Amino acid sequence: LLADDGRIAATIFAEMSALALRTGAINLGQGFPDEDGPAEVLEAARQAIADGINQYPPGIGLPVLREAIARHQHRFYGVDVDAASEVLVTAGATEALAATLLAFVDTGDEVVTFEPYYDAYAALIARAGGVHRTVPLHFPDWRPDPDELRAAVTDRTRLIIVNSPHNPTGVVFDDEILELVVELATRHDAIIVTDEVYEHLTFGVAHRPIATLPGAWERTVSISSGGKTFSTTGWKIGWLTAPAPLVTAVLAVKQYLTYVNGAPFQPAIAVGLELPDAFFSEAAAALARKRDVLVGGLTAAGFAVSTPQAGYFVIADASPLGVDDGAAFCRELPERAGVVGVPVSAFVHGDRHDVYRSLVRFAFCKRLPVLEEASARLRRLG
Ligand code: PMP
Ligand code: GLN
Repeated sequence: LLADDGRIAATIFAEMSALALRTGAINLGQGFPDEDGPAEVLEAARQAIADGINQYPPGIGLPVLREAIARHQHRFYGVDVDAASEVLVTAGATEALAATLLAFVDTGDEVVTFEPYYDAYAALIARAGGVHRTVPLHFPDWRPDPDELRAAVTDRTRLIIVNSPHNPTGVVFDDEILELVVELATRHDAIIVTDEVYEHLTFGVAHRPIATLPGAWERTVSISSGGKTFSTTGWKIGWLTAPAPLVTAVLAVKQYLTYVNGAPFQPAIAVGLELPDAFFSEAAAALARKRDVLVGGLTAAGFAVSTPQAGYFVIADASPLGVDDGAAFCRELPERAGVVGVPVSAFVHGDRHDVYRSLVRFAFCKRLPVLEEASARLRRLG
């Protein structure tokens, strides 16, 4: 896990995937799909390689992808971004996050995130020299308390990171919370960084990008990635959209992180972004069926489950099974049930482990028979 000074031991995902490999357990730990995404996208990458798109692309990204990202923002959210100056292609959402934090956070600056949080945030904030402030999300509906959010944002706040749809909880923040973030960021002159990698994977609730709220665009860096939407997590094609001066500041950092990334995958992700609406709605509907199977399986096994509105993950409370320590439970689970999950304590600060102690995150971005088998195995726990 992460040391409090930000040094990185193996990430929880690497540790749990290694455990799954070692024990042959079903890996519902790290979030990656076990099936390929759309054939058009895969074929476009093969074609790009055959066409010789194999050398350094421009640092800001190939025009074909930047234009597809701009059209995607317009098609789904009615936002007009300039493909030439307001879009930056990155090595996954991870590099977009890293470069943004390194660009804007100075030593001692405060960065606010909700908690639990995607683990990379804490590590990157520490690397940038920032101070991490968290606003708790409360099980089981994962809604933050507006007063706790108000209390966390001050004139020391440089950046507020919003991740909606949210990993690990699967919550989609409502308008009231998003509006409050914009209000607080404006009052304290903070930058909003929004991680929207699960933007298309919502189950009957609408994802509203925070950049579309009044007053938000000028201070918001919106981050997404092709990995989740097109089941290409290994390609590491991500991007951000933001006003040109913010893009320039992030590009200045990116050029010394990766310089450029993934030439043949960029036109392929562009093909994905141009797929018809039906692709996006069917992908979400297929994932919702997977969610239902795993939520049903976990419930039948005796867990108390919080049904996610979006994303790849479900959080289950193991305390009805007599579990007190979720981390110890996850280490034993491959032996006891042949399934791997991730303790939610991996996504919270050390001093708050107790609050989330008995909670476990399971990924449902797997084929239905795999989820059914995992459910059957978990039922034997009781
Ligand atoms: N943000 C969140 C919330 C994620 O869950 C993930 C990975 N699943 C990432 C960022 C990283 O995305 P990428 O693989 O595109 O770097
Ligand atoms: N984002 C994925 C998860 O939350 C994988 C992240 C990773 O391996 N770093 O499981």
